[in-house]
Amino acid sequence: MADITLNRLAKVYPGGVRALSDLDLTVRDGEFFALLGPSGCGKSTLLRTLAGLEEATGGSVHIAGQDVTALPPGDRDIAMVFQDYALFPHMTVHENIAYPLKIKKVGKGERAAKARETAEELGLGHLGERRPAQLSGGQQQRAALARAMACHPRVFLFDEPLSNLDARMRLEARTFLKKLQRELGVTTVFVTHDQAEALAMADRIAVMESGELRQVGTPTEVFRRP
Ligand code: ADP
Ligand code: ADP
Repeated sequence: MADITLNRLAKVYPGGVRALSDLDLTVRDGEFFALLGPSGCGKSTLLRTLAGLEEATGGSVHIAGQDVTALPPGDRDIAMVFQDYALFPHMTVHENIAYPLKIKKVGKGERAAKARETAEELGLGHLGERRPAQLSGGQQQRAALARAMACHPRVFLFDEPLSNLDARMRLEARTFLKKLQRELGVTTVFVTHDQAEALAMADRIAVMESGELRQVGTPTEVFRRP
């Protein structure tokens, strides 16, 4: 049960920008949850605060009932995939995938086996010895996903992971990601500014505006005509 609960979660940046305004929200276990809203509304800040990459200035985050508000990113059982993938350019695909396992002090043999297996699962088996610069955009996206999966996190956080793909690849990646999420049963929070993407992929959607959640519901509820 990896539900995520926010209680009055707030983030005010030094300098005074109020990026998150006392958010209350529960993302259910195994749910694919989209955060939708215009640039600057606070989507990335919310994701980064969930991941522990930003410190909350108020309120709390619970994951599976545990208060993680003060925990460092590595102790939250969360994996994040960034818009630019953030792959390590000097490492091969296999090394990139194995890296989080190395941080977790998994032994060398087991790391290598796990990296090969995860690469295989994502259709990157033949590309394991390449470096990120030698991959297409879609392949880089899969490598970033493989790196996120390797530790079997309970929660996936995606920051516009499809926005650097061309239109055809994006449609393909949508289907693929959705299928993978279902198979793994991982609770997923997915940031996008693309309404069609949220509609196609999410179980529920939160519409953000100026650091607040304006509306939370299923795609039908959120996009129902008034
Ligand atoms: P989104 O992801 O929806 O585009 P962000 O979370 O990036 O929104 O930004 C929300 C607000 O916080 C914006 O006003 C932005 O300028 C501000 N902001 C984001 N990051 C920082 C930062 N590191 N320092 C100060 N202000 C920031
Ligand atoms: P996104 O596309 O996710 O909204 P942005 O392009 O707004 O990201 O921001 C890119 C980076 O700059 C992020 O790390 C964000 O935290 C930081 N940032 C955004 N707005 C500000 C700001 N007003 N002051 C300082 N840093 C900011």
